[in-house]
Amino acid sequence: MSPDFHCRSCGNREGELILDLGIQPLANNLLRPEDLDKPEPRFPLRLFACRRCWLLQLADLVPPVELFSEYLYFSSFSDAMLRHAEAAAGRYVPEFGLGPASRVVEIASNDGYLLQYFQRAGIPCLGIEPAANIARVAREKGMETLTRFFTAAMARELVAARGRADLILANNVFAHAPDTNDFTAGLAALLKPTGRVILEFPYAADLIERTEFDTIYHEHVFYFTLTALRPLFERHGLAIVRVEHLPIHGGSLRIFVAHADTCPVDRSVTELQAEEQRGGVASLSYYQGFADRVGAVVADLGALVRRLRAEGRSMAAYGASAKGSTLLNFAGLGPETLDFVVDRSPHKQGRLTPGMHLPILPVEQLLVRRPDYAVLLTWNFAEEILGQQQAYRAAGGRFILPIPRVSVV
Ligand code: ZN
Repeated sequence: MSPDFHCRSCGNREGELILDLGIQPLANNLLRPEDLDKPEPRFPLRLFACRRCWLLQLADLVPPVELFSEYLYFSSFSDAMLRHAEAAAGRYVPEFGLGPASRVVEIASNDGYLLQYFQRAGIPCLGIEPAANIARVAREKGMETLTRFFTAAMARELVAARGRADLILANNVFAHAPDTNDFTAGLAALLKPTGRVILEFPYAADLIERTEFDTIYHEHVFYFTLTALRPLFERHGLAIVRVEHLPIHGGSLRIFVAHADTCPVDRSVTELQAEEQRGGVASLSYYQGFADRVGAVVADLGALVRRLRAEGRSMAAYGASAKGSTLLNFAGLGPETLDFVVDRSPHKQGRLTPGMHLPILPVEQLLVRRPDYAVLLTWNFAEEILGQQQAYRAAGGRFILPIPRVSVV
């Protein structure tokens, strides 16, 4: 028995501490300069593995109001996210025969970056987005959006008022919902008998194998493998019928879910399941050693940055992202080594990063101030960003990539 552990999927009380990231600020709580006088909320950040279903999860929860009432991540500020969304919509419309009589519901629809492509194809859409400021942006673009958290009760309400959905999309939200059984029951309730749910989330096997510890922050309660997901869906009469392993966000899974026994299960599911079994995902040894590898990455990064600073080099960071917050705070990199962070989103500019309080400036400042090095906190968009920053690099600027191992480009 682990006194702090209670698996949110299977209810087991035996859990193993995999990584302790200490007491961390909320990764998306970008401060205004006037907030510096107030205490900054901080919470423990500890990753456990369930010894029965092997679901990786945080042991300590933060009240959702603290997390989502004002959210500053607008998906449309990434070109890569928009391309990913357009390609997905362009594929699902013909594949699932969607048309004017269908209904698509997206959970955590953000600023409408994905639904807009369905809407343009003439398919009735509904977005569900708990962050009021982001839902407003979607509505201004003409996307019907409910400012709500998705729960089983809410799903039943929707079914009573408008009927079920042919396609339910939920990208990068399934790992955020602490009551995962309630969320999954909601998917089952809202889905038409022949419909599909498509979920995307960071893949825990990539996180473990590539030391992507900065994917861990309070909003991400769960880190899923197929092994851990199957019992969760089965409990609610659902089945994973296809899976795709995507490179986005350092490695994600896209799973296609249907009501159990309504369609054949694709080979991709049995193949990935077998791969996970061979890799040892359902055994403790797979997770042991992760904390040591994380410690090595953080030590390498700290040593490089401090050496460069001692040599008189100037340094900044790129990307005021949530993962950047985990990395900076756990590595202890603050104003004594990094002068500022740049970010493309005007919603973030003028604020300060959580915990370390680095000022967030527009990306153009990289060329204006020309730090010798920039730590690329959004390494998951490295290709896109390195392409955009050719002028900075041509002027002698270098990027430090922290993950999966520290390198300079
Ligand atoms: Zn469990």
